[in-house]
Amino acid sequence: MSVMAVLNILKVPDPFLKKKVKKVQDITPEVLKILDDMAETMYYSNGVGLAASQVGIDMRLVTIDISNEERKSELLKMINPEIMEGGGELVMEEGCLSVPGIRDEVKRFKSVKFRYLDTDGVERVIDDDGLLARVIQHEIDHLDGIVFIDRLSPLKKAIYYRRLKKEAKKRRDELKM
Ligand SMILES: [Zn+2]
Repeated sequence: MSVMAVLNILKVPDPFLKKKVKKVQDITPEVLKILDDMAETMYYSNGVGLAASQVGIDMRLVTIDISNEERKSELLKMINPEIMEGGGELVMEEGCLSVPGIRDEVKRFKSVKFRYLDTDGVERVIDDDGLLARVIQHEIDHLDGIVFIDRLSPLKKAIYYRRLKKEAKKRRDELKM
């Protein structure tokens, strides 16, 4: 048994977050270990979802757990997830572990049908019109190099990127002390 690890989460404007990451060809022990570490990192950070892009890994992997007090824990570990169909429109407030301190309203499909491979390599298809539909769209965006502020108006996007760049510079300056 290997020990799980909390991974470092990249923050905007880290260039890796702009990268479209690669499909997983073989489900190796390394891939399974990364999914375990991603789940650990997601829970540690109180996130509901995490994409491999956010921890600097060039693979199409996502973990999601949208459970709360009422709903029991259900961890989804997904390999090569993709949207098959989307329907309707819904504006909803989002935040992101890679975009600290910013929340804003994003328009996305209300319902989606998506597929992925589970850790046994079995294809799973899920149809959802709730929170899971929202989170999977956000996470697949990460795999394509898109963060939620990229989906806002050009003005808002510019303001947020400027703020995040300033904060990143401040973090670097602090580290030099
Ligand atoms: Zn995110």
